[in-house]
Amino acid sequence: MRVAVIGGGYGGLASAARLAKLGHEVALYEAGPALGGALRPILSEDGPWPSPVSGVLLPAVIKDLFRKSGRTLDRELDLEHRELIREHRFEDRTTLNVHGGSRGAQLEELGQEWVDYVESFSETWEVLRTTYAEVPWDRAHPDKRLRRLLTSRETLAKRAKRTFKDHRLRIIAEYGAAATGQNPRYTPAWTGLEVYLEQRFGMWDVVGGPEALAASLADRMQTRNVAVHLGTPVQDVVVRDNAAVAVALDGGEADADAVVVATDPRRFPALERLTTQTLPAIPPAITWIELDAPLDLPPEVVLHGGAMITLRHTGTHLTAIAHAAIGEDLVTALRRHRIDLRGRIVRQYDRTPPQTVEMWNGSPLGISWAGPRTVFDRPGPTTPFKNLYAAGAHATPGAGLPFVGLSAALVAQVIGPA
Ligand SMILES: Cc1cc2nc3c(=O)[nH]c(=O)nc-3n(C[C@H](O)[C@H](O)[C@H](O)COP(=O)(O)OP(=O)(O)OC[C@H]3O[C@@H](n4cnc5c(N)ncnc54)[C@H](O)[C@@H]3O)c2cc1C
Repeated sequence: MRVAVIGGGYGGLASAARLAKLGHEVALYEAGPALGGALRPILSEDGPWPSPVSGVLLPAVIKDLFRKSGRTLDRELDLEHRELIREHRFEDRTTLNVHGGSRGAQLEELGQEWVDYVESFSETWEVLRTTYAEVPWDRAHPDKRLRRLLTSRETLAKRAKRTFKDHRLRIIAEYGAAATGQNPRYTPAWTGLEVYLEQRFGMWDVVGGPEALAASLADRMQTRNVAVHLGTPVQDVVVRDNAAVAVALDGGEADADAVVVATDPRRFPALERLTTQTLPAIPPAITWIELDAPLDLPPEVVLHGGAMITLRHTGTHLTAIAHAAIGEDLVTALRRHRIDLRGRIVRQYDRTPPQTVEMWNGSPLGISWAGPRTVFDRPGPTTPFKNLYAAGAHATPGAGLPFVGLSAALVAQVIGPA
């Protein structure tokens, strides 16, 4: 089959690699000048900055992608286990560390209440994995256990409030949602399961950074003979008799037997009905800072009190990510948390949320939760259109590298071998 994949981010690359290995003739259309989407370095007038994307959960998903598309991961890239996932610094000057891949370390640092909370997601993950994340689901007739989980009205904020007396543990439980631009009061409780994945499978860093992952997948496009069209924005999907038949480009139409949308489908007028019930999750404001020397900080530190700021740190680069207006100078905000950058900044680059949306040609954070219904409104792997499939952050099972990786595996499953 001729398959057109729209979008050269992780979702599009993973879909294209898998489908090409299954014997399809794959064309990948990327609006920007290079592949990788949010994994790519950020280009500014005074030089590149590292992608703000950092660790990877569920390493098995990346391993599966590499294995099923030609060469195993260990022949191309190294993953390093991150023992201390992140440090949370609170307004009262206390600190809590989240360690990965170890119940014992979490018990020692965060206590029994925390490990019990984490354990409560074990069944959630089992249901999601076996009926939704690893096998294509039927949203009209979901498995009974899945339906019960997905239609529950309990929100993440409610679950965290009911579970923890210590407000700091509540904040940590809600962190995964808050860090991806979601409001925990509209986010279903089951989405809090990232804490389980962190404890059970650990957090991993790709050696060389997300850029190395993007570069390796770009190479795989060549080895799998995917026809890559850079600087080629798809203007729309051509739909006839409710079936996707081509993609519309500036210079005309490119016919396809199947189309995989691995971008925000709201960009395509013909697909309007896929998106009328949802809104995109707005990316954060980001400041990149180059320092005169590395800081003595863990790779990820989250500052609470006022607007939450996530700091990601590699070598002399510091990336500050905030989903709400900080309301003061960043250097002053960091000083309140004992991080003193005065006189140490070599260069700095600031992007507002609208600028990051422009930079990435959309939101790499997928859609915004507005209650339990949202999961049914999110497309993927199939859509109401024949021969149209959805992968990436805007599709089932959602944003974040592990889930985007799973979305591509789901699309490859439903399309099947050539
Ligand atoms: C600040 C930030 C930090 C993050 N940190 C992490 C992290 O630490 N760990 C983690 O697992 N996840 C993280 N994520 C989430 C993760 O990066 C994304 O969910 C994932 O990369 C999305 O991949 P994607 O392919 O769906 O989208 P994208 O990477 O956004 O790629 C979409 C691609 O489609 C292209 N495109 C758009 N429109 C068109 C068109 N009309 N025609 C052709 N091409 C088009 C774009 O140019 C882009 O290249 C982070 C996200 C953000 C914003």
